[in-house]
Parts: sequence; structure tokens; C-alpha cells
Amino acid sequence: MTTEDLRAQLATIKYPGFSRDIISFGLVKLAEMVDEVADIHLQIQTKDAEIPRKIFNDIHALLDPLLGGPEKVKVGIDIQNPPVQGDAAAVKESLPGVKHIIAVASGKGGVGKSTVSANLAVALASQGLKVGLCDCDLYGPSIAHMFGVSNHELRSDSDDNIVPIEAHGIKLMSMGFLLSDSSPVIVRGPLANRYTQQFLKQVAWGELDVLVLDLPPGTGDIQLTIVQSVALTGSVIVTTPQEIALIDARKAVTMFAKVNVSILGLIENMSWFECDLGTRYPLFGSGGGQKEADRIKVPLLAQIPINPETCQQADAGTPIALREENTAYHDAARQLMEGLAKKG
Ligand code: ADP
Repeated sequence: MTTEDLRAQLATIKYPGFSRDIISFGLVKLAEMVDEVADIHLQIQTKDAEIPRKIFNDIHALLDPLLGGPEKVKVGIDIQNPPVQGDAAAVKESLPGVKHIIAVASGKGGVGKSTVSANLAVALASQGLKVGLCDCDLYGPSIAHMFGVSNHELRSDSDDNIVPIEAHGIKLMSMGFLLSDSSPVIVRGPLANRYTQQFLKQVAWGELDVLVLDLPPGTGDIQLTIVQSVALTGSVIVTTPQEIALIDARKAVTMFAKVNVSILGLIENMSWFECDLGTRYPLFGSGGGQKEADRIKVPLLAQIPINPETCQQADAGTPIALREENTAYHDAARQLMEGLAKKG
């Protein structure tokens, strides 16, 4: 077996519970064939001893028969503590100057996660808070468009950090700034992870009360990278009332529980459509958000109706919460900050 073969073999081993393999995750710091012995060294950030144990066993189960026994496979694992989630000091340490980092997540795409992130950021800023918004959705960045700054070019400061673009009083960072409208995103695997870390770590955010992270939809590897890169104050989950969305929202809930990120609340989007006569039509069912919030014992921060203006304002680059003062987003932002104040 050559060193190249060895790396190819290791690339078939998945990080427990995720679809990403240990090579593309960047966990394998060394993998070499020396005198027909595989010399492998990994670095893993976790508090769960089961994870390195499982990876260790998986490597041996795969390579021992191929190389002729366990003595031909040397595996060293360096286990490090991940950032402590939810802890104010850890949040500050992971991004100096930032008081709270709140991830907005959804189990599936299309439920309005980015719309909620944008409007929540605007509503938080309307309380006089210093707010940043980072679009972590490499494959479908939409925040730059929603703030009308898609064509702005990024520059870096004297420390080589990226200076966020400011729009409507909010500091923005998005993959959208690096892409033209039509270019496909072809970053995958380790590169996607690196970009994400760079987004978070190499941006000159300055002093912020709240940094909102618009996560990509789903419960994949980028979410794990984010949790391993920064300490989050907590997360907000966006769902529609429909069971099919709730099934995926529950996966997001489980993912955050696995990595010790607390859920600060749930936001139900597209709760109903109200016609001119005032009748409400619950197009995607009703009560789903409240039921899920009750189940996981977190507040339902908002029920947001379907409103064609939400779309129009998003396309015009002016999130709807800028125009109106007392939307469900403002209420959610107030509740969110009250919840954080109580936590201390
Ligand atoms: P996600 O980030 O979950 O993929 P988006 O925020 O991009 O979802 O929203 C998907 C589409 O639905 C967008 O066209 C957006 O403008 C629209 N949308 C989201 N929420 C609402 C709402 N409450 N009323 C009307 N349109 C909405």
C-alpha cells in the first residue's frame, strides 16, 4: 500500500454521526506508509470519548486485514477540548469583541431561515444593539442580495482581516460578496470548512453585541465546523408549521443537543396568510411550531405570517423589519435579548 492508497482508505471512514469523512474534515494530520507500516496521527476536538474510540476502532477494522495485523497500523490521536458552548467568556475568546453569537438554523431549506436571520438582525439593531450578520450558507448565499449590497467589493484591513460591508447599520459578511450572481459554488469538503472558518475568524467584526450566523440548511458538516470554530451563545430554529418541516427541525434540535448548544427559541414562519378581509388561512397547517417549542421546552419567539411584501422587500434589498416598527421580528428580538439577559 502506498501513502496515497492509505489516504484513500482513510477517506472512507466517516466522522461518527456525520456524512463527512475524517480526511476531508481535516482531522488526519499525518498518514504515511513507512516500511509497510501505516503511521497515522489525528487531532480531534471533542468532549465525547466515544468519538475518538470509534474512529480508532474503525481505522483498525479497515486497515488491519489489508496490512496484515494491528502491529502494522499505528494510530495516534490527540484529543482537544472544543470551545465551551453557551459560555460568555468562551464566546468572547472565540471572537474577541463579540458578546453574543446566535446561530439561526433550520432542518430544511426554503422555510425562510435567511429571511428570518436578516429581519431578526434588523430588529436587534433597532433596539440600539451593534449587530453583525454572517451568511454561512456557501451554497446559497442570499444575505447580500437581501441587503442590496451584492455588488460590493470586499477589502481587507492592515491586519489582513476582511472588513465587513455595512448596510442598514448592520455589518455583513457573505459568500455572496465573493461570487458573481451566476458563478456556481464549487467549494466542497475541506475547502468549504476552511472558508467557513475564515468567514468567522478573519473578519474585522469590531465590537458587536450580537453576531447572527445564518447557517446553511440541514444538519451537515459545516454546522459542525462552525460549532468547532466558535463558541455559540445559542441557536434559534426556524420552521414552518408543517409536519414535514418539523421532522427536519427536530434533527436540527438533536444536532445542537449533541454539541451542547442551547436552543434559545423557535420561530415559526409562514404561519398563515391573511386576506384583505382579515381571514387567516393556515396554508401549512397550524400549531406545529408551538407543539415543537413545548416539546423541547423553549419559547416560541414568533409566528410570522406569509406576506408578499416580505419577498418584495427582500428583493429590493430592504428587509421588511426596516420599514415597520412592531413586527413579529421585533417582538422575537426583544424576547431573545430578555432571555439572554436572564441567563446572565
Ligand atoms: P431559507 O433560507 O430557509 O432557504 P429563504 O429565507 O431564502 O429560505 O426564503 C425562501 C423564500 O420564501 C424567499 O423567496 C423568501 O423571500 C420567501 N419568504 C420567506 N419567508 C416569507 C414570509 N413570511 N412571507 C413571504 N415570503 C417569505
